Amino acid sequence: MSDGAIDLHAHTTHSDGSASPKELIERANAKGARSIAVTDHDTVDAFAEARAAADRLGVEFIPGIEISADFSPGTMHILGYLIDGEAPALKEQLAMLKNAREKRNPEIARRLEGLGFDISYEEVAQLAANNVVGRPHFASVLVKKGYVRSIQEAFDRLLKKGAPAYVEKARLSPRDAIEVIHGAGGVAVLAHPYQLKLSSYQAADELVADLAALGLDGIEAIYSRHSPDQRSRYSEIALRHDLLITGGSDYHGSYKPDIDLVTGLGDLEVPYALLEALKARAIDSDAKPQEKGIESARA
Ligand code: AMP
Ligand code: ZN
Ligand code: FE
Ligand code: FE
Repeated sequence: MSDGAIDLHAHTTHSDGSASPKELIERANAKGARSIAVTDHDTVDAFAEARAAADRLGVEFIPGIEISADFSPGTMHILGYLIDGEAPALKEQLAMLKNAREKRNPEIARRLEGLGFDISYEEVAQLAANNVVGRPHFASVLVKKGYVRSIQEAFDRLLKKGAPAYVEKARLSPRDAIEVIHGAGGVAVLAHPYQLKLSSYQAADELVADLAALGLDGIEAIYSRHSPDQRSRYSEIALRHDLLITGGSDYHGSYKPDIDLVTGLGDLEVPYALLEALKARAIDSDAKPQEKGIESARA
């Protein structure tokens, strides 16, 4: 691995990762990473512990988040980087999203029971230690009980969009997801675009144009499960729309056992220069409201 590798996409036990914030940072350090972003689903609760561990080990900690946005046919996740986890509007939206999960999750358990599986929501929530409970926790309980052989099989047969135990949850619109990240001082990046399940790169290009008009800042073109061709095609789309290119593994520990931190499936390499561009964009967008303020003061 080259010097200065980074990873801008990782989950902890505060959402659906199996490593605690401290363990995650220790793993990043052991893998020689210079910087690591924590991007849990819908929560910033890992930040304090991750930051302390990172300071101790001399790893650079980047505060991040992953927000699910309303989209079909596939899945749209928006990553937020360098956010202020204390921003009131962000906290308010995260409380709303937590609520939406708490409505959906018991319904998934009921569906599974209805399909004949002996599974209670209590044991799933317990596995998640009552942090942000996600479908991977359901999948893990199904594996432990011997109903399926792997987390992936649980998704394919039961939990993925359109499968018998899939239940929709309320999500933010792409516009609101980008806005809440910007409102917290962050940079908004379209995660793993292959999961949008669009029919062509042309369709992806058109969607990215729309999202860029809403203020999207970048695309996660370098992603564990992207092929080399996908990495270069999504990078081209980013450059065409003046967007940043970012990259990360989407490490979930034992919940995605084939993906390792920093190296992904073995061929991931995210250069530090991408993080420098991301930081520059964060500073740049910080300056924008002030510029506007000066203009309106003059008007
Ligand atoms: P949730 O936010 O609770 O709906 O869970 C979303 C998480 O489930 C994603 O971040 C992935 O970790 C995982 N996931 C979603 N779809 C799949 C899939 N088809 N196969 C494996 N894991 C998936
Ligand atoms: Zn996840
Ligand atoms: Fe995601
Ligand atoms: Fe993720």
